[in-house]
Amino acid sequence: MQWLGDEDRERLRDWVAVFVAEKRFEGCRGMEIDDEVRLSIAGQAGLIVLGMPDEFFDRLQSVLVYPGDYLVKRSTPLEGGGELEWQEPRLGETWNGGSMVLSWPRVVEGGRLRDGPRSVVIHECAHAIDLLDGEIDGVPPLESAASRREWMRGMADCRDRFAEALDEERFVAFDDYAAEGPGEFFAVASECFFQDPHRLHRYDRDLYTLMAEAWRQDPKSRVPVQRGR
Ligand SMILES: [Zn+2]
Repeated sequence: MQWLGDEDRERLRDWVAVFVAEKRFEGCRGMEIDDEVRLSIAGQAGLIVLGMPDEFFDRLQSVLVYPGDYLVKRSTPLEGGGELEWQEPRLGETWNGGSMVLSWPRVVEGGRLRDGPRSVVIHECAHAIDLLDGEIDGVPPLESAASRREWMRGMADCRDRFAEALDEERFVAFDDYAAEGPGEFFAVASECFFQDPHRLHRYDRDLYTLMAEAWRQDPKSRVPVQRGR
């Protein structure tokens, strides 16, 4: 936020005010919702749609915030009947019904996990943008059908290069969770694009260009190069 120019900063402030007024913030498991919580989430969400002035995540109605990572009950049918049940820890998720769930410490951390720059808010907001056309498939709304086809081809190449680098244990700019599928690839690459744009650019210029096209902004032009990584 400190790197934004005056104009962007003002636009972000206005955007945050609308987002905070429109969305319902709910504290879960004793989590208290105050301005710090609302503004931290809205600020990170607003930053990524700076290039899309009319985007307010219309499908999103509520933001559920937990005081820590939370457990989700999962189950799978067993062969021969019965079910296997287990608890899976989550740091955030996006529901089709219009809710986003976030773990507060992860929002604050907004930052760096071991394997690269992560942000749970950017991750879930990327899924929300991806979902605008009906499904989380790693393809956000793009300008035209032709650019959409070209964009998808480019992203498929980037995913192939990423998978190959993982196989060969070469450097990749972001977490290997991105290899889970096109939706996760888009969300995890978006985290890196906003959190450390120079790192993404160094790693794969084509991917950076495709992300800049999708998000309609060039964060590397405003964030100074970070040293030491
Ligand atoms: Zn995800």
